[in-house]
Amino acid sequence: MTDWLELDRRYLMPTYHRLPIAIARGKGNYLYDTEGKSYLDLFTGLAVNILGHSHPALLKALHEQGDRFLHISNKFLNPPAIRLAERLTTHSIEGKVFFVNSGAEATEAAVKLVHKWAGKHGDGKNGFVVMKKSFHGRTLGAVRLTRQPGVYQDFPQPDFPVYEVEPNRIEELHQICAEEKPAALLAEPILGSGGVQPLDLSYLQEMARLCREQGMLLIMDEIQTGVGRTGTLFAYQQAGLKPDLILFAKGVGGGLPLGGIIAGDRLKDLFQPGDHGTTFAPSPLSAALGNAVLDVLLDQGQLEQGRKNAQTLWQQLKELRNRFPAVIGDIRGRGMMIGVDTTLTPEQAAKLQLDLTTDGVLVDITQQTVIRLLPPLTLTPEEIEGFMQKLQSRLQQILS
Ligand SMILES: *Cc1c(COP(=O)(O)O)cnc(C)c1O
Repeated sequence: MTDWLELDRRYLMPTYHRLPIAIARGKGNYLYDTEGKSYLDLFTGLAVNILGHSHPALLKALHEQGDRFLHISNKFLNPPAIRLAERLTTHSIEGKVFFVNSGAEATEAAVKLVHKWAGKHGDGKNGFVVMKKSFHGRTLGAVRLTRQPGVYQDFPQPDFPVYEVEPNRIEELHQICAEEKPAALLAEPILGSGGVQPLDLSYLQEMARLCREQGMLLIMDEIQTGVGRTGTLFAYQQAGLKPDLILFAKGVGGGLPLGGIIAGDRLKDLFQPGDHGTTFAPSPLSAALGNAVLDVLLDQGQLEQGRKNAQTLWQQLKELRNRFPAVIGDIRGRGMMIGVDTTLTPEQAAKLQLDLTTDGVLVDITQQTVIRLLPPLTLTPEEIEGFMQKLQSRLQQILS
């Protein structure tokens, strides 16, 4: 039998700690390995497969668009992409979209757009305020905005100004904006790889107020929180804001690479021919899947149903915390983006992840001891029940 782990070690750069399972296929909320073992997927490709695997609406869009054309140049009109941009702006802010292939590229586009805005309209303002432990991607511009030393310390840093603040401290935000002249405030509504740290709705609202007052740009990185993950199409909507710029990626392409930025009035016409571009994005195939994702979420009620499923999951996690008050601390996040703080050691947390994998459940561990759950919106109450039983008995074993 093929030893995939050995081949992976030989031929791929070790940029990730991989779980030792080779995936053969996925269906619904399950992945299957090459030996036929099934795994409940509470990981969803790190917040990508929001509708689980092989969703019929996505497969239909894949086949239909695949039969038409897979790629064209941006020098032609791209109907699936135009349709998707129309729907994304209709359901967020009025404005225009620039499509890319990934989250990091969305951040790069934002860096360039904000720089251009600052040069023309910024009145001396320049650079970004970002949150400590933020994650905005790993290309060089994005890594400058990513405030996790492990991600940036060994690499060159472009020299535009970046001001780091502690999340949810309004005083600190006021102080930076008074002392410096940032052009933009950039934040994930819930810091994802920073340990699933939600920004308070009041803090987000204060960011928006400061931007209005001082003429700065408000930018929401919805790359992980967007596309229904937290119960609304975008997470900022729960704070009733109107950002100037929204970054999206991950879930939007239904599993295919797709991302972009949605720019409101102040930014939407700044990029002119030659200012920015990409060969592949928007892939017509990714855009067709994007439209199918929105059909399922918005027209077929999956966003609403996902909210209900998430409530069930939250309720059961809170009950588990009542049973294990010494191990389980804060349960943070919203909707299907959940971080369960534990008092486990990093070794115990790693063992819990492996034990659950043995039991046929995939979860992520972030910041060493936080169980990160990114389930599909299609997760059923029965699947939640099964997961909770396995989690409970593995916790009991580790603690005994
Ligand atoms: C994943 C992520 C990114 C980077 O996206 P890639 O597609 O991996 O480049 C940026 N911002 C946030 C909030 C993310 O979660």
